[in-house]
Amino acid sequence: MNYLALDIGGTKTSAALFTGEGVLLETSFKTAATETEKGEEAVYETARALVQAALDSAEGGARGIGVGSPGPLNREHGIILHAPLMGWRNFPIVQRLAADFKLPVRLDNDGNLGALAEGRAGVAKAVPNLVYITVSTGCGGGIIADGKLYHGAHDSAGEIGHFSIDPQGPPCPCGSHGCFELYASGTALLDKMRLDMKAGKQSLVFKLAAFQPEKLSGRLLDQAAAAGDEYALSLYQQEGFYLGAGLANVFNMLDPEVIVLGGGITKGRHFFHDKMMETLAERCLRKPAEDAVRYSVLNDRVVLYGAYFLIKEAMENI
Ligand SMILES: [Zn+2]
Repeated sequence: MNYLALDIGGTKTSAALFTGEGVLLETSFKTAATETEKGEEAVYETARALVQAALDSAEGGARGIGVGSPGPLNREHGIILHAPLMGWRNFPIVQRLAADFKLPVRLDNDGNLGALAEGRAGVAKAVPNLVYITVSTGCGGGIIADGKLYHGAHDSAGEIGHFSIDPQGPPCPCGSHGCFELYASGTALLDKMRLDMKAGKQSLVFKLAAFQPEKLSGRLLDQAAAAGDEYALSLYQQEGFYLGAGLANVFNMLDPEVIVLGGGITKGRHFFHDKMMETLAERCLRKPAEDAVRYSVLNDRVVLYGAYFLIKEAMENI
């Protein structure tokens, strides 16, 4: 029997069926814009319709539904507590889906499900201790310890984005200062490019963006770096340094075999990987192995895969 996976993201919502052997049924894959500006009921209705469409695409229904969403959330009560990106506050997603589809439903946050997916089917398959970090708009993460998701006391573990790497750094919306994501996220890279362009620095990336701040992107930065642009390459060196400084905290604290990096920034890995590994070697008590940092291969579908493993393993344990 199949399982239904649902990924409610800030920009896209997707649903798909997986077989009991973990194969995603391509014809069941349904996706749509989340359209958060329309409010929580509209976002839910989009999700519900995608689940229905995925279920209708194959015979036999599903044994249960696994759901991934941005946190924070309360897994026990199945509630998305406060997802400002989606305009949700205390939304009882598990209860609503269970009532609409008469199926068991399990919920976890996208960072945790990324870790679960990579540890079960991705680049860290069967690795008992791993940390997944997504570097995109912000930096989220999840921890697998001894083969199991580590949630912490209040479902709040894995918030690598808010490890402070400079206590006297700029203020972060979370209340702290100098958080990792203020330096290493895609947003941080874009902000830096915008400031430098305004300040009159010279780079191919600014020319490619026709000197319009809103046109700057990671894609153009890659293009400039590939052409040997000095500024673009130096930005990636800096990215490698900050990633190394942040990941060193994770290695020192949790001693995982592997850290898996996901998110848009990993497309530029060729330009920052060496600097990141060099910084890690300098800052880790125990020098990480050459292949201790790996890059997600599940990419856009990592949360769907995680949602599948979440519901499948929950059903097997009932
Ligand atoms: Zn913070």
